[in-house]
Parts: sequence; C-alpha cells; structure tokens
Amino acid sequence: MDCLENAGRLKAKDYKKCVLYSTLSPCDMCTGAVLLYKIPVVVIGENSTFKGPENYSRQRGVKLINLDLDECKNMMRDFIRECPQLWNEDIGV
Ligand SMILES: [Zn+2]
Repeated sequence: MDCLENAGRLKAKDYKKCVLYSTLSPCDMCTGAVLLYKIPVVVIGENSTFKGPENYSRQRGVKLINLDLDECKNMMRDFIRECPQLWNEDIGV
C-alpha cells in the first residue's frame, strides 16, 4: 500500500503495465489493491513468514513469482523480533 501511495496517482493503463515487488506474499488488503488496479505481475520475496490469498490472485489472472529469498526471510524475522506489535497490527492479530 505504501508503494502504491508513493507511486502517486497513475492512470489505469499505467497500472496494467506495472510489476509490484513485495517482500512478503501480499495480504488480503494488498491483493485487493492489485486486483482493483489490475496489476498483472507481483514478485514476492518470500511466502514462508506469511502467505496471502495467492491462489485467489492466480485465479483472477495475476502472475505471482515467489523468489523464496533467505534475505527476505531474515529481514522479516528481524522485523518481527524488533517490532512484534507492529507486525501483529499488519497481519490483523
Ligand atoms: Zn498487505
């Protein structure tokens, strides 16, 4: 969501040409944004720490590429250890 906000206001035709890069598998909210804006490709750093509705995204035509990177897993492990309250808010716990 931060990424989309930081990209500014784009035209619908521009979103359809975007590739979204995400550290984690997109959650329900981010998946909704991807579908709403018809972003065709999402590159995921890893989905071991958290897995969003990937099958639903695929069924809706989004191409998901999971890089399964240890670097992202380590980054998430450190973030969750340092900011557990923020992580719990992010995932709706
Ligand atoms: Zn999200």
